[in-house]
Amino acid sequence: MKVLVLNCGSSSLKYQLMDMENEKVVTKGTYERIGQDNSFVTIKQKGDKIRIENPVKNHEAALKFVMEELLTGEKYGVISDLNEIDAVGHRLVHGGEKFDHSVLIDDEIIELIKETTPLAPLHNPACLLGVEACQKLIKDIPMVAVFDTAFHQTMPKENFIYPLPYEYYEKYKIRKYGFHGTSHKFVSQRVAEVMNKDIKDLKIVTCHLGQGASLCAIQDGKSINTSMGLTPLAGIAMCARCGDIDPSLPFYLMDTLGKTKEEINSILNKESGVLGISGISPDFRDVEAAKAEGNERATLAIDFYNHTVAEYIARYAVSLQGIDVIVFTAGIGENQINIRKGICENLKFMGVEIDENANNCRGEEVEISSANSKIKVYVIPTDEELMIARDTKEIVEKM
Ligand code: AMP
Repeated sequence: MKVLVLNCGSSSLKYQLMDMENEKVVTKGTYERIGQDNSFVTIKQKGDKIRIENPVKNHEAALKFVMEELLTGEKYGVISDLNEIDAVGHRLVHGGEKFDHSVLIDDEIIELIKETTPLAPLHNPACLLGVEACQKLIKDIPMVAVFDTAFHQTMPKENFIYPLPYEYYEKYKIRKYGFHGTSHKFVSQRVAEVMNKDIKDLKIVTCHLGQGASLCAIQDGKSINTSMGLTPLAGIAMCARCGDIDPSLPFYLMDTLGKTKEEINSILNKESGVLGISGISPDFRDVEAAKAEGNERATLAIDFYNHTVAEYIARYAVSLQGIDVIVFTAGIGENQINIRKGICENLKFMGVEIDENANNCRGEEVEISSANSKIKVYVIPTDEELMIARDTKEIVEKM
């Protein structure tokens, strides 16, 4: 079975064609700057990265180019006909309370997804553009929606409720939802396999540390707590997002500095986090390099980040009443050796101990804790696309 995985952002479209017989990637690529004059697509084939400039007006045009030139075309094609694709898996950012698992897409589901748009006004409409484009380009193909929020729908109410007047939850569904569910689910399942344990016997804290970052407390293979909230701005400080701050801060910025709502939104989402504190870059590689040269604000930003991630892990020791294993994943979690070390040093009091040699790795599945560590620590590269393809295959096979 061949599954096409689509992940649409407001101006981007990521695609990955998977052969589910062996779970291998057939081809993949990313269209960027859709709707602008300089849109381009980068594809990865046989280890080579190729950039193709091809301006497109919208997602439908981008997907058409992907299908006609990059999947079936003479030069880059990998299949002879679109009919070779058995199903499409779509990444949907927000499923609200309506979706606690992946679903086969039909008109009714599309309407339900539209109802969650106020919860993800930028993301969900973009994902739906991908769904609509697919419907037009490959008639009658089964499509599955996989939601970033679904895995967290198992959180108990005391872990998702906000201490606001209760009617805001009842009437408007204002609550903590959490994101990166596909990634947290994938790496928690994978770490159990690697440890040769039943996931039901493990108390796991997964740390998805990428540009967006969230932690998740997992018991019995289910999310019971997570650090992002109603939106992906909450939780730990990120590359450029602020994470948890005093909720009155936006009013203060408005009243004392005359900032507008749009300006505050931009400050909190794009100018804060590690970029904000360091003033250097949202990329940890740049901030670490500056720290190595003795830059004080870079050091402060990294110390702050490591401390906050460790605090969240300790918090989840309360949610889980203990931790068996901590997992690091995503860009920073998989690649930033010193960040993993710094976080774990903050957790020495809990008996976490790193083996420096083992931790000297990037993007590999490795146990990085020492033999004496009371809590195991692993690096597990995430694979959200594979998880989406697996869900898609499972649902389509039951049709
Ligand atoms: P993500 O959103 O998961 O792609 O993560 C992006 C972040 O991961 C970047 O800001 C970098 O700090 C970090 N990162 C990604 N790749 C590497 C790498 N090869 N080495 C070190 N850090 C990396």
